[in-house]
Amino acid sequence: QLREQVLACTACGLCQGRKHAVFGDGAQTARWMVVGEAPGQEEDRSGLPFVGRSGRLLDAMLAAVGMSRERDVFIANVIKCRPPGNRNPKPEEIAACGPYLMRQITLLRPERILVLGRFAAQTLLGVDASIANLRGRLHQLKADDGREIPVVVSYHPAYLLRSPSEKARAWQDLRLAAKG
Ligand code: SF4
Repeated sequence: QLREQVLACTACGLCQGRKHAVFGDGAQTARWMVVGEAPGQEEDRSGLPFVGRSGRLLDAMLAAVGMSRERDVFIANVIKCRPPGNRNPKPEEIAACGPYLMRQITLLRPERILVLGRFAAQTLLGVDASIANLRGRLHQLKADDGREIPVVVSYHPAYLLRSPSEKARAWQDLRLAAKG
């Protein structure tokens, strides 16, 4: 029902330029949730999150800690429709779309959330800090049902493709998430 609601949503202006709203993808009984920012061009076209080079890198990162998108992980974005030109989402778009992600978290009840990139981390945790400041430790997110879920912050795979020297830090983050 929630998926159908998102696919038909017109609650903010981003519905006007989208080809597909991107609800999320992965295991229905997921141990982890992976949360990114918003769909890019390929995601908008396919209706799936984290496809293309970033998606392949994310899948390889997850495989390195024994996790797979099909079996263990549900992947979603904070914003479900593509902002034009991949601009940053506006506050009113975040306000309109954020409740969908919180509902997904409540329904999926993941053991762990891995949040990728500065925008997604700041939005989910409600803070205004850099990735450098947020990564390397466990945060707690209070779900709508009151449950506290550990959150690990790491780099977005698109950034890692541009800055491969940061992959060692991303590996540390994955290990923290896997043991945390
Ligand atoms: Fe609805 Fe979110 Fe898409 Fe806006 S971005 S139209 S709130 S699904």
